[in-house]
Amino acid sequence: MSTPLFDLSSTKVLITGGSRGIGFGIASVFAAAGADVSVAARSATDLDRAVTRLEDMGSGRTLGVVVDVADPESCRAMTGAVMDAWGGLDVLCANAGIFPQASLETMSPKDLDDVLDVNVKGSIYSVQACLDALTASGRGRVVLTSSITGPTTGYPGWAHYGASKAAQLGFMRTAAVELAPRGITVNAVLPGNVESEGLQDLGEDYLRSMSTAVPAGRLGRPEEIGYAAAFLATREAAYVTGQMLTVDGGQVLPESLDALSR
Ligand code: NAP
Repeated sequence: MSTPLFDLSSTKVLITGGSRGIGFGIASVFAAAGADVSVAARSATDLDRAVTRLEDMGSGRTLGVVVDVADPESCRAMTGAVMDAWGGLDVLCANAGIFPQASLETMSPKDLDDVLDVNVKGSIYSVQACLDALTASGRGRVVLTSSITGPTTGYPGWAHYGASKAAQLGFMRTAAVELAPRGITVNAVLPGNVESEGLQDLGEDYLRSMSTAVPAGRLGRPEEIGYAAAFLATREAAYVTGQMLTVDGGQVLPESLDALSR
């Protein structure tokens, strides 16, 4: 019997920032596809809750791992825990990220460091920690969660965040070239505004104004980022590397507000 298209069953996946929001959406898509899913984040309580929910969603194994991606040692320990449990890893979704707001006038060196440490260095440390395991897989996949903010658009208060999300893409392109001989692909999803716990913290006014700016007329759902990440993780996507996949309901397309009058 031939293998079905886009079969992710028995694939071993690690998702940083997988305890909630977009990361949990990604994890739930992989779990439903029969993958073994490990989620990593700082809060052990949130991880326990996520693992319990994931266990009900799929047939694969689930694991929660405490990590601070801004710390390279912690990232190595994260990969070690996955390897101890499962003896392999095929897919890393480097998704953990933060988006505190600060205007250019008030942004402190610490504000800047915090965002770059988690979003940029954290992505790189996560990939470095998984390199041997992804190489041994023979079909390693890295999927970064970037954003439309920075690579494509700007938003007041997020200059440091936008810089961090664009920096992830600069990293992605060279990593894709360096890792291609090992059979590892490195790609990025660029979400628009997605209904995550983190986004909800920005308040109802922000959420309402954002959904009116989207041609699709609504914000994205976390699992919709998961479907894009899952495609990039398939065997069939082996020849796609160093690429950006925007998932935003058309948010970056309108030339003006007039284009959105419905
Ligand atoms: P969220 O709901 O706040 O979730 C963030 C996740 O990252 C949590 O699991 C959090 O867990 C984890 N995390 C944060 N700092 C971490 C650290 N230092 N080490 C390990 N884990 C850490 O955020 P989200 O909206 O889902 O965002 C997820 C990713 O999508 C981010 O990279 C973000 O930039 C990107 N994104 C989001 C949107 C959106 O509209 N929501 C749009 C574009 C891009 P702990 O706090 O327990 O560590």
